[in-house]
Amino acid sequence: MAILQIKKYPEKILKTKSEKITRIDGKLLKLSKDMLETMYFFNGIGLAANQVGELSSVFVADIKPDGKQKPIILFNPKILSCKGNCYLEEGCLSFPGISAKIKRAEKIVVCGIRPDEKEIKMEVEGILARVFQHEIDHLNGIVFFDRVNFIRRLKLNREYFRKK
Ligand SMILES: [Zn+2]
Repeated sequence: MAILQIKKYPEKILKTKSEKITRIDGKLLKLSKDMLETMYFFNGIGLAANQVGELSSVFVADIKPDGKQKPIILFNPKILSCKGNCYLEEGCLSFPGISAKIKRAEKIVVCGIRPDEKEIKMEVEGILARVFQHEIDHLNGIVFFDRVNFIRRLKLNREYFRKK
């Protein structure tokens, strides 16, 4: 396994939509494992492929560092339905030093393909639902900055480049 380099805003790949995976091969499995290792290394709770420079539709997530829940690797993830709304402060490994309150659905139903190529459909809520939405946004070329209003985005942008 390897620690990958994380792409930082404003790198173009963060604004690029990822491509659907047609076959999960050894290369993709290695990528997803490397992504998990990279996410743990940088103390993240989720990571999408375009954040490490790959345009494959896959993200990884693990919100329980105590190992109670297995890490999640999901290929071709898609949100089927959303319920409720909540605001919470969010950060992103591609935007070091910046966080913003983002509105997200409280509960979502997601489908996707697991590393063992089984198709799954799952309902997630709370922090995990938030991480899923954040990472699926990444795969669609959307960053969390895009979820705040224009004025707030200008402010965050200034703050980000001042810290950089
Ligand atoms: Zn992110």
